[in-house]
Parts: sequence; structure tokens; C-alpha cells
Amino acid sequence: MKKTIFVTGGAGFIGSALIRYLINETDNVVVNFDKLTYAGNLESLKSVESNERYHFIQGDICDKEKVSDVLAKYQPDYIMHLAAESHVDRSIDGPGEFIQTNVVGTYSLLEAARSYFVSLDSTQKSTFRFHHISTDEVYGDLGATGLFTEETSYDPSSPYSASKAASDHLVRAWHRTYQLPIVLTNCSNNYGSYHFPEKLIPLIILNALDGKSLPIYGDGKQVRDWLYVDDHARALYKVVDEGRLGETYNIGGFNEKQNIEVVNTICNHLNELIIDKPQGLNDFNDLITYVKDRPGHDVRYAIDASKINKELGWHPQETFDSGIKKTVQWYLANLEWCKHVQDGSYQRERLGK
Ligand code: NAD
Repeated sequence: MKKTIFVTGGAGFIGSALIRYLINETDNVVVNFDKLTYAGNLESLKSVESNERYHFIQGDICDKEKVSDVLAKYQPDYIMHLAAESHVDRSIDGPGEFIQTNVVGTYSLLEAARSYFVSLDSTQKSTFRFHHISTDEVYGDLGATGLFTEETSYDPSSPYSASKAASDHLVRAWHRTYQLPIVLTNCSNNYGSYHFPEKLIPLIILNALDGKSLPIYGDGKQVRDWLYVDDHARALYKVVDEGRLGETYNIGGFNEKQNIEVVNTICNHLNELIIDKPQGLNDFNDLITYVKDRPGHDVRYAIDASKINKELGWHPQETFDSGIKKTVQWYLANLEWCKHVQDGSYQRERLGK
């Protein structure tokens, strides 16, 4: 049945992929509530902005009154909460904004959602869901073996992951204390189109095209489990629509890669795709430069995504090889988008030293 879905942070990387999926692949109505920080860009939603099922409201999740007005007006069935400060290096330079949006903002949104939930009739109450979109970074560092399951204890390392851990706890508490119907997802590193170029993969692609150095933190052997963002979007919708009430689902790509492997793969694709390389360059891998590691840098994250697979039948469609190739090709075809999102304050400089 057609649902109305209130999405926070819908102008960001994952939020915009989710909204493109919801508009293109379902018949649901979407209300995108986004503050439009440096990371939010409406250009990522150009393909759906004129659809009559899409609505945009600029606002801050910390503004409870505004959130409450929008909830009362659109009467959503689901709230999918993605709005956050999301870049670990930025959280090291300035944790305050992370506490404000990720912790205080989530608290404020939960309170608005609780008042709204109380106002619903029993039929609406029975289908309403508040879905918090979180990260596998809340589990902290994993040794050389093993996987994060939904039962792994929280042990966050950075101000970013600590703020996400705090917001996860708030969401669970609002369920236990106030019976707010919630679901949670903790996902591994995403990659794909429309990713802001401060994150590893787009940063490497764009630096390489400019003939700039490709910074590798520490020895580059940190392992991340990479998930193609469109696979994540499908998983999120499955969980909010079919997931069991009060449950957490881990989402991962079954794609463990060392950072250096990721960078080598990108360089190899660029070597094939770019005939006119920057002056004097034969191989993009020659641009790789090892730099001082990030403080508190976790060595390995890896997700056990068997619960969402068994219960909801979700599995990623892209392998790392197919997804990374698509991603490199997307950036080459969308340099204009990259230019526009970088017109603001961020210029690919290193943060979080
Ligand atoms: P992003 O930084 O690309 O986008 C965040 C969006 O939130 C932006 O559009 C921004 O304008 C908006 N926003 C920020 N503060 C706001 C506020 N106070 N009020 C309203 N809107 C606000 O982030 P992303 O990579 O798309 O991540 C989305 C969510 O998924 C985050 O909660 C993040 O923690 C989580 N997550 C991300 C990854 C990843 O690999 N990127 C992995 C797992 C989980």
C-alpha cells in the first residue's frame, strides 16, 4: 500500500540514493527534510524533483516545532532518519557539530515523532515506524578475524561513531520507555554516485584526474566492508517496510577490502579509461602518497549481514568490481556535479590530523 515517508538528510549521499529509489521504484510519497549543510545538495535529486510524489522542506532536525508542523501536515507512515554530520575527520577537528546534530538533533526528532505518534489513531499507530540509519563504526575496531553481528557490544573510537552510538541508544530507549515503534540499521562503508568528494573513493578519483597526490592514511591496510549505495537504499526500504519492530539489522556488502586495494583498483580503472593522463604520468598508482595515520583509526570493520539476508531476503546486487567501475564512470561523466558541490567551503583539503 502507498505510504508517505518522511526522510531526514535526503539531500545527502545515502539519503538522495534512497529518495531516487523510493520515487523511481515504489509508488510512495516522499517528504525530504534537510538543512542543506555543506554535505546536502539538491542537485543530487534533480531527476525526481518535479515528481508530484516528492516534497522538499529545508529545516533543521533540532527545530522541533518545524519538524512537528511538517509531520502534522504530511502525516507520514514512516520516518527514515539519515540526517547527520557524517565525516570522521571533521568530527576530530570539531566534535561540537556532531553532538548537536547527531545526538541533540536525534533526541529532538524523537520527541517530535513521539508527540506525532501519540496523536495517531490505532490503525495508523500499528503501521508507523521510526527508522534510524546508523553505522557499523559504533562497534569499534575488529581484530584480524570475526564479524560484527547485531549482538556485538558498542565500542566507538571517534567523536563521529560515539555520536552515532549515542543516537542509537536514544532510539532504543524511546522504544522501551515510550513504545515508539522503531527499527535500526547499522551499515558498512557506502560508495557510489553523488558521494561528496571528501570521502575516500571520490577524493581519490578527483585528485587523480587533477594529477594530485593520492593520500593513504598510515600503511593503507585498514579493512572496510564496501557496500554500493543503491544496494543500501534497497535494504533500508526492506527494513522499514518489512523489518520486525524494535529490531536491529546489520547491512554489509560482503566486500572486505584494504584501503590500498581500493585505491589501486580505482587507479587501474582510470588507467584504462583515461587516455589523456595528466602531464608526465603513465600510471595513476604513481600518485599514491602515504601520510600520517588518522588518530584513533580503526583497523578493520566487517559486517555479518546474515540476519537481513535470512529474514528479509536482501542481498547486495553489486560486487565491489562492478560497483567501483560504475562509480568511476559516473564521476567521469559528472564532473560538473563535483564542481558545484565543491563551490562551497570544502576544497578536498585534509582534515582531522
Ligand atoms: P551525508 O553527510 O552525505 O548527508 C547528510 C545529510 O544530512 C546532508 O544532506 C545534510 O544537509 C543533512 N543534515 C545535516 N545536519 C542536519 C540537520 N541538523 N538537520 C537536517 N538535515 C541535516 O551523509 P551520508 O553519507 O548520506 O549518511 C547518511 C546517514 O547514514 C548518516 O546518518 C550516517 O551516519 C549513516 N551512514 C553512513 C555511511 C556511509 O558510508 N556514508 C555508512 C553507514 C551509515
